[in-house]
Amino acid sequence: MLKSHLLVAVHLLMLAVLAEALPEKLKYPLTGFVTERLSANEYEKWKAIERIVFTEDKERQPLHPTLRNLWQWIETSGHTVFIEIIKVRGSSDCTAGLFTIERFDPLGEHHIAVIKLNLININMAYVGPETRRPNGFVPFKGLGKEERYAEVLGHELAHAVHILTNLARARQVEDLVQQTNQILLARFSKKQKGHHITPAELSRRLSKRDDLLKLLEQQAEDMEKIVWQELVAGKILNSKLPYLANKESDLQREFGFAFRRTPKPGQAGKK
Ligand SMILES: [Zn+2]
Repeated sequence: MLKSHLLVAVHLLMLAVLAEALPEKLKYPLTGFVTERLSANEYEKWKAIERIVFTEDKERQPLHPTLRNLWQWIETSGHTVFIEIIKVRGSSDCTAGLFTIERFDPLGEHHIAVIKLNLININMAYVGPETRRPNGFVPFKGLGKEERYAEVLGHELAHAVHILTNLARARQVEDLVQQTNQILLARFSKKQKGHHITPAELSRRLSKRDDLLKLLEQQAEDMEKIVWQELVAGKILNSKLPYLANKESDLQREFGFAFRRTPKPGQAGKK
């Protein structure tokens, strides 16, 4: 009995050692979204977001094509994107969502990244004129709980696709954002080893990092605006807001954009 337990223990230990020795590519053969970090309850929430991404209209056309395209790019990219759900109120680490590269592949074939969604912060987010973005839209306006999660996912997916599609950009993010954050963490925790950097160098690094973050943020916010518009338009098509369904002027006033129905096949070009 003892011997068989010992054998099992040795076997498990060998598997653990083997897993550690395997290159990341074999250890994580799963590409696309990986949900193994989610609890059963969190997984249900993730599935609800997925259902929104893949909602179709009566003609079986995607209601949220931008969100769906971003999702499908990740699924077929050959990269791994873990999904995590954070439930820390007011966490400065993750206001609504966060995209980071966990392991950068210098060949650009298989990056490992993570998207974190902070559902509590999204639930509590204030929606009003004060939060209007420079590109003119008010995040979450007109959206229900899970649609808000889908909007934030759209923002993080925009970061993911923008960064992971371009090796030079991914390297820049790795060098300027991730590395700089590591240096800052090391300085805060007073573990200076490996991070000898003068204050002047650090300040140069921080300014370069912030310039890059600004550019990345602009791109993601523009994409988020499109995702938000599709979510609002999808709601109207689903007649959840029937009072707005046929009144473009109301929509223009309420949400700041004109909603155009996608012409049915054969109707293109007709007035
Ligand atoms: Zn962002």
